[in-house]
Amino acid sequence: MSSFGAFPFRRRGRLDPDDAPLRIRSCRDLCSWHRTPVERRGEPMFACRGCGSQWVPSEHWTPRESSGGIPPAVLEIVRAEI
Ligand SMILES: [Zn+2]
Repeated sequence: MSSFGAFPFRRRGRLDPDDAPLRIRSCRDLCSWHRTPVERRGEPMFACRGCGSQWVPSEHWTPRESSGGIPPAVLEIVRAEI
């Protein structure tokens, strides 16, 4: 009996964003957040150009720019959820 057909096909070497753990690093001076074209579990994924962290709205922390402010695109989402 073969059950190969039951598994969805996944390309090797390319993680599905739904399964990949988010990268979270301590943000520093260079932080600059931007929205990525990637969706993770139905949420828009953001990434930091400075430290490589990743964020989605369901995370219990809020990204900060190097200036200390919350990125406008993130603020929009956070506000909408309150
Ligand atoms: Zn950062």
